[in-house]
Amino acid sequence: MKIIMLGAPGAGKGTQAKMIAEKYGVPHISTGDIFRANIKNGTQLGMEAKKYMDQGLLVPDELTVKILLDRVAGEDCKNGYVLDGFPRTIPQAQVLDEALTELGDQIDYAINVDVPDENIIKRMGGRRACLSCGATYHIEHVPPKKEGVCDVCGQELVLRDDDKPETVKNRLQVYHDQTQPLIDFYTQKNVLRTVDGTADMQDVFAAIVAILG
Ligand code: ADP
Ligand code: AMP
Repeated sequence: MKIIMLGAPGAGKGTQAKMIAEKYGVPHISTGDIFRANIKNGTQLGMEAKKYMDQGLLVPDELTVKILLDRVAGEDCKNGYVLDGFPRTIPQAQVLDEALTELGDQIDYAINVDVPDENIIKRMGGRRACLSCGATYHIEHVPPKKEGVCDVCGQELVLRDDDKPETVKNRLQVYHDQTQPLIDFYTQKNVLRTVDGTADMQDVFAAIVAILG
């Protein structure tokens, strides 16, 4: 099962992707998490990606496509995967499509988690992230057991630099300009399904399970 999560930053792609990965036994692949892990480890890729991420801009396609194609070639991706945050541009989607076509394969579903911009701005300010294990929380909707501490690995939770209000506005603009056209791209391929991302997260998940079967 090969699934793509589409939606604005903060729509709940990561939250749902983790639940899908667990239920269907496929890896959750987040390009944002891969970049953040590289930043944390001080790699060349991390330093390059950070320049763009801090401004709310997309990391250039050349860098992003390579890490994604390497990742999906992994042994654990044989039975599928759920992509969270990739593709974010039409050229990225085309490269993925070509790579899959070469293997006689294709994406099964692109799930569009639909949330209006007003809700996004409120949500992002409340998001807290663990940069160690990638877990995400929300100070109101999904609080950790102990304030500021990750339930999973005990590390400190942070407000991501790119979740600060000015950067969120840029990210939304970038989303509308560069990522939203993917909705048409996957509609034409007949794999797009839209769910209401403003609902409670368990209800959003139930809607996704109804699609995936
Ligand atoms: P994305 O991966 O699309 O950027 P996240 O999954 O990280 O988004 O969700 C953004 C924030 O909103 C997180 O703090 C998360 O806990 C919270 N969240 C996710 N889904 C919902 C929902 N259905 N209702 C309320 N808050 C949500
Ligand atoms: P995310 O964790 O998915 O919200 O991603 C955080 C940031 O990482 C984005 O704002 C981009 O700067 C960068 N990024 C993640 N995925 C991609 C991608 N597919 N293409 C370009 N940049 C990306």
